[in-house]
Amino acid sequence: MASMVSNRSERDAGAAGTLPVISHWIDGRPVEVPPEQTGPVFDPSTGEIIARVPRGGAAEVDAAVSAARAAFPAWRDTPLIARSQIFFAYRELVWRHREEMARLITRDHGKTYPDALGEVLRGLETIEYACGLPTLLAGMNTPNVATNVDALTLRQPLGVAAGITPFNFPAMVPMWIYPIALMTGNTFVWKPSSHTPGATQLQAELWTEAGLPDGVFNVVYGGREAVAAIVEHPDISAIQFVGSTPVGQYVYETGTKRGKRVGAYTSAKNAMVVLPDADLELTADAAVASGYGSAGERCMAQTLVIAVGDVGDRLLPLMLERVASLKVGPGMEPGVDMGPIYSAEHRASVIGWIDRGVAEGAKLVVDGRPFVHPTSPDGFFLGVSLFDHVTPEMAIYREEIFGPVLGIVRTSTYDEALALINGHRYANGTAIFTTDGGAARRFQLEVDVPMIGVNVPIPVPAGYLSFGGAKASALADLQMRGEDSIRFFTKQKEVTVRWPEPGRRAALSLVFPGNR
Ligand code: NAD
Repeated sequence: MASMVSNRSERDAGAAGTLPVISHWIDGRPVEVPPEQTGPVFDPSTGEIIARVPRGGAAEVDAAVSAARAAFPAWRDTPLIARSQIFFAYRELVWRHREEMARLITRDHGKTYPDALGEVLRGLETIEYACGLPTLLAGMNTPNVATNVDALTLRQPLGVAAGITPFNFPAMVPMWIYPIALMTGNTFVWKPSSHTPGATQLQAELWTEAGLPDGVFNVVYGGREAVAAIVEHPDISAIQFVGSTPVGQYVYETGTKRGKRVGAYTSAKNAMVVLPDADLELTADAAVASGYGSAGERCMAQTLVIAVGDVGDRLLPLMLERVASLKVGPGMEPGVDMGPIYSAEHRASVIGWIDRGVAEGAKLVVDGRPFVHPTSPDGFFLGVSLFDHVTPEMAIYREEIFGPVLGIVRTSTYDEALALINGHRYANGTAIFTTDGGAARRFQLEVDVPMIGVNVPIPVPAGYLSFGGAKASALADLQMRGEDSIRFFTKQKEVTVRWPEPGRRAALSLVFPGNR
């Protein structure tokens, strides 16, 4: 079924004058909307409109929440092994459709096909983790906490949970949220980004094909109005948000005020430290791959390289060599390293940041602004840009650009580099490049950033571990995924049970019960 739908989309997109109109997914079926209630979806490689996506609001959110609420009691009470079998079936379907899903991502996001495939596989890790739900949901059982008394810990679902996700990982980021929300017994409403809906459709269809009961997984497209309806909705118990800090702050503050559990994982400005003893060939590969992969539109990209001592002068030529060999072009074209920026507006914003860096006095050693793709001049392409001598006072040091723009910062000592990272308002990921194990160990203990790479530039933990930043990169008490997410999506009960031995009963006593 899924492949039929996406093939249909591709066929329709090619037909003269007709564009596929994407539907909400509510109660196990597509909910169509009239064209006037839709917005455009672009192919960033050509600049053409390829589909229309609904602009949902309060009414659609309400319909999705009603479906999810109605489906909740039966899903909560479905035996764990039966739920787990649906997860195994979903896992198989995503695996079988991985290439199709990657093509859909490349089409409306623009990232290269191998990168999109990598995203699907990293998302799959969390789905595979969720397949083990019978053991993951096991609570604690402590016998004999007092005479004839045992203690049980229960974990139960919250009800209807929601996920609000960004454009940059249309498969992986939602796959970090909904498997755990669902496996813990919640029903789910997903508000994806309207920029990249291709892979969203496929995920909804695959859940139905896997046997997930209607209403357990729902999708509502939309922007500000749909998000407001989610954060205000009295029947939504928990929200995980991934996106920019200002929107995350709004979702966190409004949602928690309404008594919801909210985890908001937000913007970033990541820096990697390079010590003078680093393997500079490996470091140059890492900096270029991390900074320009997916056109810099990754929250774990290292967009600042903090070069300690004389390392900047030695590293720069190696980075320039690599930058010169990068091929920018449509994401489906073999051999392309970097696709376009996802939207024309964002491309203009990235150019604005480069202009600002120049005005602030950073040295622009590679300028990606003039790049025009020879055969696709209307695509949202931008070349890669590299600044040297970026300083902490500059806005291009302080703010997230989310484009293919790397900045080298020079410091005299490791302590200065560490102070820079620990003084930044964002704290998502960081890395150190060195051949000195002692220095790397010290960095892990001293750096105030939760996700750390040692000679690893994009230190995204494996899909069964937790993930999340700190400071302005997360408004959350717990990280997403892993053990933290199981806690997030469940309420915990402590049950104290007495079963007296046959024929034995303690005498009546008004003393506060002790456990000794
Ligand atoms: P965004 O904040 O614009 O959008 C995120 C979600 O919020 C989308 O579903 C969008 O439709 C909705 N939204 C947008 N504007 C809104 C508004 N004014 N009111 C209510 N809802 C609104 O983010 P984006 O541009 O899609 O994604 C890029 C951002 O996401 C970057 O800042 C990036 O660092 C961040 N990100 C963070 C992580 C992480 O794990 N920390 C992962 C991926 C992306």
